[in-house]
Amino acid sequence: MNDSPLALLGGEPAITTPGPHFTWPPIAEPDREAVAAQLEAAVSIPDRSGVVAELEGALASYLGVQHVVTTCTGTAALHSMYAAAGIGPGDEVIVPALTFHATATPLFHLGAHAVLADVDESGQLDLDDAARRITARTKAMVAVHLWGMPEDMDALVSFTDAHNLMLLEDGSHAHGATWNSKRAGTFGAAAAFSLNGPKPLSAGEGGFVATDDSELYFRVLLHGQYNKRCRREIPANHPLARYAVTGMGLKLRIHPLAAALAHAQLPRLDGYLAGRQATAARMCAALDEVPGVRMPRVSASAGPSWYALPLRYEPAELGGLPLQRFFDAVHAEGATEADQPGSTRPLATHPLFQNPGALLPGYAERRNPAPGDFPGAEHVYTTTLKLPVWHLDEDVPLADAYTQAIVKVAAHHEDLL
Ligand SMILES: *Cc1c(COP(=O)(O)O)cnc(C)c1O
Repeated sequence: MNDSPLALLGGEPAITTPGPHFTWPPIAEPDREAVAAQLEAAVSIPDRSGVVAELEGALASYLGVQHVVTTCTGTAALHSMYAAAGIGPGDEVIVPALTFHATATPLFHLGAHAVLADVDESGQLDLDDAARRITARTKAMVAVHLWGMPEDMDALVSFTDAHNLMLLEDGSHAHGATWNSKRAGTFGAAAAFSLNGPKPLSAGEGGFVATDDSELYFRVLLHGQYNKRCRREIPANHPLARYAVTGMGLKLRIHPLAAALAHAQLPRLDGYLAGRQATAARMCAALDEVPGVRMPRVSASAGPSWYALPLRYEPAELGGLPLQRFFDAVHAEGATEADQPGSTRPLATHPLFQNPGALLPGYAERRNPAPGDFPGAEHVYTTTLKLPVWHLDEDVPLADAYTQAIVKVAAHHEDLL
């Protein structure tokens, strides 16, 4: 096949299987049964009962934490986590400069500030840069395990300990990922996760906060789970119990049908991850020696969830071929779901971060980040080529076809120059 001319130049494509090539979550009989049964059982759950209690209990034991509170989205989980952590007006939270925007945006709604810190070659927090950005107002730092590759949690825990910062996690790419066999989302004071459609564990729409800290737990409840839940779970003699009826006034509950889906998915998560691990290893082995693409470095301590396989593009090894041209050729080969990250991008490139004041009047005065301030994030973003990671044996031929498409384009790169 490598002898055939590039499909972009009129040759035979490497992949002819019609798309979509990767869909998530995998829907099976247990999901259909769980959602159908939930439809009969309850479609609104105002307290910690039924499928909400079951899902929260299952997540808490899966992660090994004391408390889990489900929410309507991951964004809401992050909002509740920051609010519960006591992040308020003027406070600063160190956020990686390259992540999905919702890691940071809830801070705008608490009057707080996301202080962006640059990332290194592999997209992980650059702790030297983070250290330079600490001020007297810095309260916390949030770890994002980008594409399911766990951050170096030994380094992050010692960093936040040394600087007396609260460590928080956004585990939205990393359900079930581990660092030294401990699950992502269990290293800090609290973690927020998305259960959105494509995430490793999916409710369709949903999220949750995980914590061992009961005070934080009560405040998460007060943030978005008003009335019955608060009344039943916050002890009557707790100083905040008198706020139970209104909480902080937001309503961020998960939908029971979504909870039923995530609850039905969870027993299969470890199987998904094992399958992805095998596929990722196979794809990395196939691409390891290919000029123009570098495999992610996986620490011996890391057990990634492989939310995607992020390759680093090295144009210098391909005669300077621009990434876009490389993408066009890979897509023409039929690997249509190889992509450049879309919404996960340097936060400083969003108008909301450059000029929040136009939408959020409280933010008009501050010096805001500008493109160019975060060269590490820009570099990683503009050189990332992301591949889906399948979990089923039956998808191995598709995974092989994707890697072969890349091998083919790299081999013929001179034809594209
Ligand atoms: C998806 C995602 C979120 C937001 O979750 P939603 O459920 O879409 O609100 C936050 N952070 C990261 C890193 C995400 O990938």
